[in-house]
Amino acid sequence: MNNNSTSFSDLVVMKFGGTSVGSAERIRNVGDLISGSERKVVVLSAMSGVTNMLVEISQLFNNSNTQGALNKIQELQEKYQVVIEELYSQSEHKEEALTFVAEKMNFLRSFKEEYFTDFEERQILAQGEIISVEMMRLHLAERGIVAIKLPALEYMVTNKHGEPNLPEIQSQLIELLSHYPKQSLFITEGYICRNAYLEIDNLKRGGSDYTAALIGAALDAKEIQIWTDIDGLHNNDPRVVDHTTAVRHLHFNEAAELAYFGAKILHPACIHPAKMRNIPVRLLNSMEPEAKGTIISNRIKEGSLKAVAAKDGITALRILSSRMLLAQGFMRKVFETFERYQTAVDMITTSEVAITLTIDNTNRLEEILLELRKIADVSVDEDMTIISVVGDMNWKNVGFESRVVEALSELPVRMISYGGSNYGVSILIRSEDKVRALKLLSKHLFHEEVS
Ligand code: ADP
Ligand code: ASP
Ligand code: MG
Repeated sequence: MNNNSTSFSDLVVMKFGGTSVGSAERIRNVGDLISGSERKVVVLSAMSGVTNMLVEISQLFNNSNTQGALNKIQELQEKYQVVIEELYSQSEHKEEALTFVAEKMNFLRSFKEEYFTDFEERQILAQGEIISVEMMRLHLAERGIVAIKLPALEYMVTNKHGEPNLPEIQSQLIELLSHYPKQSLFITEGYICRNAYLEIDNLKRGGSDYTAALIGAALDAKEIQIWTDIDGLHNNDPRVVDHTTAVRHLHFNEAAELAYFGAKILHPACIHPAKMRNIPVRLLNSMEPEAKGTIISNRIKEGSLKAVAAKDGITALRILSSRMLLAQGFMRKVFETFERYQTAVDMITTSEVAITLTIDNTNRLEEILLELRKIADVSVDEDMTIISVVGDMNWKNVGFESRVVEALSELPVRMISYGGSNYGVSILIRSEDKVRALKLLSKHLFHEEVS
């Protein structure tokens, strides 16, 4: 494929997360990994810790703690200054980077004059990715490598429901790229976008993975690579369980289920665009580039359980019909209520007279309860966790679901959801039992030593 072509089937999207660009040394390392001749779009996150600091700055402004916000901004500026001092050897690049960061920090300071809303917060949150991309561009320039900046705010757009507008993203990206037919290296900000009102917005925390997947889908790329600080998706949460191991292959649906149900390595929505265009997603370790990582594709390895994930912050609602049975129309009324208050339901189980379901967004819970209590008795369990075991869960495979339930036999289980997908079984437990549950599952399903 030659570089003048409008086809991007030779192009690779490479996304580097916060730790991968978290220090001068890491940034240099990314420089090494992206300097080959292959045509690529490189997506960068904010340096690790920066988005959290920007969230804190916003909260301080929001609470009218202007001095607190200004102190935090100073701390952030100094963090960047340390990295810049170490990263650039030529004073010209160093000066340019320091000036760029100083401008952005002054922009953050300017919010002290503002009436502070979500609109202002979204502008603050966007600065981490914008700075990463400029720092990388200057670093590459210092190495004599030309990288073209694709400003995410010019092509990454969402519709009025907050969903990415893929046709628009595609046409804007192709238009931007058409100006550089001979270029092979492009860099862009993850996470940030413009919404339907052309305001600065974002794809939610961890959203740089989603940016990479959307670019891959928009350009029909060869591969989407998510470079992070671990050698692929592990069979259990490595922050909780010792001795987890990397899963080499996952089907798109397995990966989507794991991401949705809490495997932090992937943004919950990022598999969908890749699956739609059948573009393989590879999870790789920027600290250990030779490691095999995980490949996510449309290939399914039958007859095996792959991995376990956990999603905290779940609320369960038991909705008991005021009549003796789940009369006709009851389900519709219940689900309409959740739809009206734009609250997604994750797990559902039913009995003759009741529905139990879970939600993770409780912003509208008060209103939902008020509505539901007109037709039902409702009880609420908070601080729950969904544990998902993912793999080949075709119902004709004998014994898979029972192994999962058996593993948790010593714990109180609130709900079990099986059969909704061919790829997973979900179990609702109390959050306080999560660590125990994850360890038991590793031991029983993967025969792993757990402490
Ligand atoms: P990045 O900053 O590169 O986006 P993240 O912190 O978002 O990285 O994701 C990588 C982290 O996800 C790992 O360091 C690991 O602690 C955590 N993680 C949680 N569950 C898993 C899992 N099943 N497999 C691998 N990593 C996981
Ligand atoms: N910087 C953003 C975050 O911390 C996006 C990302 O890292 O994917 O959530
Ligand atoms: Mg991430």
